[in-house]
Amino acid sequence: MKKVLILEDEENIRSFVVINLERAGYQVLEASTGAQALDTVSRNPDVGVAILDIMLPDIDGFEVCRRIRATNKQMGIIMLTARAQEIDKVTGLMTGADDYVTKPFSPAELTARIDALFRRMGGDTGQTQELLRFGPFVMNTRNHTLEKAENRIRLTQVEYSILKLFMLNPGRALAREEILCAVWGKNYEGELKVVDVNIRRLRLKIEDDATNPTYITTVWGYGYKWGN
Ligand code: CA
Repeated sequence: MKKVLILEDEENIRSFVVINLERAGYQVLEASTGAQALDTVSRNPDVGVAILDIMLPDIDGFEVCRRIRATNKQMGIIMLTARAQEIDKVTGLMTGADDYVTKPFSPAELTARIDALFRRMGGDTGQTQELLRFGPFVMNTRNHTLEKAENRIRLTQVEYSILKLFMLNPGRALAREEILCAVWGKNYEGELKVVDVNIRRLRLKIEDDATNPTYITTVWGYGYKWGN
């Protein structure tokens, strides 16, 4: 059964999430503090997706995210944000999260986001073409790894999916909407900004100089392109 962790100190929101995710067929683990969440994750390395509230009594959700990412690049991470928070601040601080959901959210919306993350993780099985190459990059689509000049670059699932989309479409301008749809799924109702946030992070990881990107280039007013 697919395992999901919900970290939320407000008990009514937490149980609302638990009930709905269990109904959707997930096994749900609960945590009400950051420390508890980190402990649960370390004892359950098979957690596929973690949903992290930001405002917590001990450490904030971003710190929990950072600590999970320090040892686990594969886990899908969704941040829960309060409506009052500036989305720019939230996205700017998104250190390693794959997605965010704004409160209040519907169970269907949350489930769709979680499903999308699990789909990406289970992705590529049965694919014939295993290695994608471009310049110094070699992507192995079987074990979801990326090397640049034979050095391994660690990517989150979302970063990997975006880069794979690029590598399958070299030289083609991709609209931000197209990237959103391909990576987050057709039913994604979030904002386009999440594409930019992930591109920014991806550039930091793969470009020689992220301030002057040459691999992921910006197509002004439209989207992004892989290569020139
Ligand atoms: Ca909270």
